[in-house]
Amino acid sequence: MQTIDNYNFDGKKAIVRVDFNVPLDDQFNVTDDNRIRGALPTIKKIIGDGGSAILMSHLGRPKGEPQEKFSLKHVVPALSDHLGVEVQFADDCIGDEAREKSEALQPGEVLLLENLRFHSAEDKVKTPEEQKATREFAEKLAGYADVYVNDAFGTAHRAHASTAVIADFFEEDAKMFGFLINKELKAMDKVLKESKSPFTAIMGGAKVSDKIQVIENLLDGVDNLIIAGGMTYTFIKAQGGEIGNSLCEEDKLELALEVIKKAKAKGVNLVLPVDQVLADDFNNEAKTMITPIMQGKEGYMGLDIGDETIKLFSDVIMKSNTILWNGPAGVFEMPNFQKGTVAIAKAIAESTSKGAFSLVGGGDSVAAVNKFGLADKISYVSTGGGAMLEYIEGKELPGIKAIKG
Ligand code: AMP
Repeated sequence: MQTIDNYNFDGKKAIVRVDFNVPLDDQFNVTDDNRIRGALPTIKKIIGDGGSAILMSHLGRPKGEPQEKFSLKHVVPALSDHLGVEVQFADDCIGDEAREKSEALQPGEVLLLENLRFHSAEDKVKTPEEQKATREFAEKLAGYADVYVNDAFGTAHRAHASTAVIADFFEEDAKMFGFLINKELKAMDKVLKESKSPFTAIMGGAKVSDKIQVIENLLDGVDNLIIAGGMTYTFIKAQGGEIGNSLCEEDKLELALEVIKKAKAKGVNLVLPVDQVLADDFNNEAKTMITPIMQGKEGYMGLDIGDETIKLFSDVIMKSNTILWNGPAGVFEMPNFQKGTVAIAKAIAESTSKGAFSLVGGGDSVAAVNKFGLADKISYVSTGGGAMLEYIEGKELPGIKAIKG
């Protein structure tokens, strides 16, 4: 397999799938440039070698039509600043302008194509061709360049035109991963294949159903599995606890009991919360009380873990050598229910400072470590939520397979 480290881009045009799906404010300023910064090493390597880079990405979920709020032209100023190169822009990813600008691109120059999802197929539902993954669309994009680089880990679990199909149009030695994808894969393999015991996974967030596959897969590798957040309550109800109005997936009660049984059989220490912060409304100003986890209250819902649980979880995290975290411990978007999530983030940061390897992924956990200013104290913060979960589930990611074979 071709690797980016030993490829010389001199005189080559590279088409690079990046993940510029970044948040914009009302004035279309980029409010979090993490993903832009993530793509810089690859772009710099290409232009530094004397090549030119044609960048493509999606932004948001447009329905196959151009929309100002999803235009990638808003990314140009921030990207130009970071690169120190005036980035050119093509108003459509396909068509004369994009083709001519790609053809005219000189060594050291960078061209960004408009949102890949602005282009819809001629069907009734207007599915963007990018997501329909049509060969014609992928072939047109491929036609701009000599070499294809995929550096968009966040969309590696999607079999789209620019993430997977396009690779078919390049020879073995003219397609490769960028530095970001390489880093992501290395960090995940460090956790999944070379974890140092004790290995603790912390699974939080709203739903058991979203993460059950991951949880089952992790049971084969972890020493401790901490369950937190809204998904706790399906486990509590399954064991006969009172949960009041807390989140619960009634159709997953059996499955929760199965997980408990499997964990026991595999010798995994399954750690559930022991106390909780109850609220009489889904609201930051709600009336609250702390109760044991099995004793919820009618009319109340559990929105965060309590102090005893914080201590219990922190102790486990502090004794770990490998830590994987996905999903918050409570409704951390509301200040009154963020304490548990902050405590977990801090414990992971502290354990990392003592030598543990920590990997945090998933939109909300990443938002949490950023919000609390702890991102640089984590060994690796993943740029891909869904992609990371699917990789941990043991699935083959189409964007990875397209290059790796
Ligand atoms: P997920 O996307 O599954 O990782 O879930 C993240 C969301 O779960 C966040 O928006 C949290 O506010 C929410 N969440 C976490 N704990 C709870 C809880 N106890 N009750 C309701 N929502 C929760």
